[in-house]
Amino acid sequence: MAFTGAGISTESGIPDFRSPGGVWTRYDPRDFTFDRYVDSAEVRRNSWAMRREFFAAAPEPNAAHRALAELEREGRLTAVITQNIDGLHQAAGSRNVIEVHGTAREVMCIGDHPRAGIAEGCDFRAPTTWAFERIDAGDDDPRCPRCDGLVKSATVSFGQAMFPEPLEVAAQHATTAELLLTIGSSLQVYPAAGIPEAAKRAGAALAILNDEATPFDRIADVVVRGRAGEVLPTAVATALGR
Ligand SMILES: [Zn+2]
Repeated sequence: MAFTGAGISTESGIPDFRSPGGVWTRYDPRDFTFDRYVDSAEVRRNSWAMRREFFAAAPEPNAAHRALAELEREGRLTAVITQNIDGLHQAAGSRNVIEVHGTAREVMCIGDHPRAGIAEGCDFRAPTTWAFERIDAGDDDPRCPRCDGLVKSATVSFGQAMFPEPLEVAAQHATTAELLLTIGSSLQVYPAAGIPEAAKRAGAALAILNDEATPFDRIADVVVRGRAGEVLPTAVATALGR
C-alpha cells in the first residue's frame, strides 16, 4: 500500500502550500476556509478563479505516479491512499485510489447554509468544468441545479470536516498491508497522518521516502531522503526484478 502527499506532485509543477511561488503567491489558502466560503459570494468567486488557474496549468503525472501505477498493474500494490486532490494518480493509471482530502476534479453540493464544517447537500456532483461553464455563461456563483444549495469543489477545505468514508476505507487497508510506502508526505496533517501510524501498529513494515525529515522516521523500517520522481522508478524496477 502507498500513502502519498504533496511531495509526489511537486515534480508535476503543483506547488505545496508551504512552497514559495506559483499560485499561492496570489491566493492565500487560509482565505478559503469552509465557513468563509459558505458566508461570502466573493470568497466563492475567488475560489473558482483559483481552481481555474490550477486547471489551466494542466499538470501531468510524473515518473513517481507512473511507478506506483505499474506496481498496481503487477499485482504488488493494493491501494494508493493520497492526501492530494490533483487526480494525478488516476491520470497515471492507478485504479484503486483513496482520496482522503477529496478531489479538485469534481464539485459537489454542500447544501444551503452548512455549519460546523460539515457538507450537508444533496447528492449532486459534477466535473469541475461544469462550474467553469456556468461561470462562463454569466452565473458567477453557480448553485446546485437540484436543490439550489451552494456548490463547492469536492475537496476538504480548511475548517471542513474530513469525509468519513475514504478515511474508513484507508484505515481498513492500513490494518492489512504488509508494507506501507509513504511518499512525499511530511506526515504532519492529521487525521490522515494517523494512517501510516495505524499500519505500523498493525504489523506493516514502514518505508518513508521524503525530501525532509518526518516525525515517523524513527519508527520507520526504511527512510530514504530524496525526490519521489528520482527514487521511486528505480525502487519499483528493482522490486519487480527489472
Ligand atoms: Zn443540491
